[in-house]
Amino acid sequence: MSGFIEGACRKQATLFPDRLDDYITEENPVRVIDAFIDNLELSNLGFKTAPADTGRPAYHPSTMLKLFVYGYLNRIQSSRRLEREAGRNVELMWLLGRLAPDFKTIADFRKDNGKSIKNTCRAFIDICRQLNMFTDAVVAIDGSKFKAVNSKENNYTPKKLQFHIDRVERHIDDYLQQLDDADKKAEKNVDDTPIKEKIAWLKKRLLELRALEVEVNNHPDKQLSTTDPDSRLLKTQGMTRAVCYNVQSAVDTKHHLIVAHEVTNKQDRGQLCSMGEQARVALGQDAVTVLADKGYYSGPDIKATQDAGMTPLVPKGDTSGSEKKGIFNRSRFKYDAERDVYICPANQLLPYRFTSLEHGMMQKRYWAHDPTCRACQLKPQCSNSKQSRRITRWEHQGQLDQMDDLITSMPDSMLIRKQTVEHPFGTIKSWMGSTHFLTKRIQNVSTEMSLHVLAYNLKRMMSILGPDKLIAAMRA
Ligand code: SF4
Repeated sequence: MSGFIEGACRKQATLFPDRLDDYITEENPVRVIDAFIDNLELSNLGFKTAPADTGRPAYHPSTMLKLFVYGYLNRIQSSRRLEREAGRNVELMWLLGRLAPDFKTIADFRKDNGKSIKNTCRAFIDICRQLNMFTDAVVAIDGSKFKAVNSKENNYTPKKLQFHIDRVERHIDDYLQQLDDADKKAEKNVDDTPIKEKIAWLKKRLLELRALEVEVNNHPDKQLSTTDPDSRLLKTQGMTRAVCYNVQSAVDTKHHLIVAHEVTNKQDRGQLCSMGEQARVALGQDAVTVLADKGYYSGPDIKATQDAGMTPLVPKGDTSGSEKKGIFNRSRFKYDAERDVYICPANQLLPYRFTSLEHGMMQKRYWAHDPTCRACQLKPQCSNSKQSRRITRWEHQGQLDQMDDLITSMPDSMLIRKQTVEHPFGTIKSWMGSTHFLTKRIQNVSTEMSLHVLAYNLKRMMSILGPDKLIAAMRA
């Protein structure tokens, strides 16, 4: 063995036994977790801190919370793995005082304390705010799809159910035909029991599918997930779809901390104002700038965000398809607010005609006289219709135009958004591994996400301030 580094003998006794504390360096992240949770008022966050009068004493919520925060910080999220680690991991022995709860107790704590865990996540953001981390008051909002426990096979839509029903009916017809053929040929020695059994099974399946069809058609979203009823089939990338949750997050652009998050089962559109409001409360500032991508572009939602005192910056995507049809995009028509007219690419005026209510929005219509357009050389590029080109304007379009002008004056805003908000999602997904959420139902999934966000923010603050400064700030 000489020439190699040798380890200590396992059977060697020591005069002064090592203390657990000797194994934990001053910069070890477990000391940050310990300081953070020990300085929290757990009862104010909703945890039960009084012991029950009967039965075996329970574990203190701070013990359980430390175990979870440590687990999510070190990619150990399952309750069975946490149980194993608590019994063999020196850092956890130090953190929990050598307590090792069983997996059922661990899982139940996460299930029963969802709201309090979310409050703990908010409490950490409060500490960051007190440390003046959010002085810029600019947040980027985005959503990312996280896979649910529910497989695609156990998600039903009317179209998918019709496909299954048609297939089962076709199989039943085929088997009945086989029985008819056997009868016609009078094949007496042939045993038709297996075919009859198959028909019976298929008929049972058909009844199940019919019952599911009724449920799906009565569902407000016209889809049903049988394993995790709250998960939904959502568009992920391009045309791909997956049964998942859409996690919304608001990330501050200065230090890339997740200031607010929300697990939803809806698309991004329509979530700008509520996420902006949550970010504003977390930052403790009235004037907040909210950056989001074109998936959030919704006139009423942007107006609601502006009316609430925030400054949204959301670029508009071309949803009209005009360019694909080979005709002028709407942006080629300029609005003259003073005269309340549009000016077309041929420099003609399109005056206001009338207002109508569409999908709850008052829409104003503008167009030029038919003879003007018929005589125009640009007509083939302007409209495929025999009529003149119609332009529609929402009554509050002026507010959206102001936002467009602001985006034009800040060409970097969308790049900042991308650089800010996509990184935390990528990090959390890599910590989760290529897997789905561990729990079912939106409230349990939200608890899981709160733990991920808390772990991410803790790690981020440790790299910004360093563990020792962060501990000092939390104890101050
Ligand atoms: S077709 Fe009519 S609206 Fe279009 S560019 Fe010509 S004049 Fe303007």
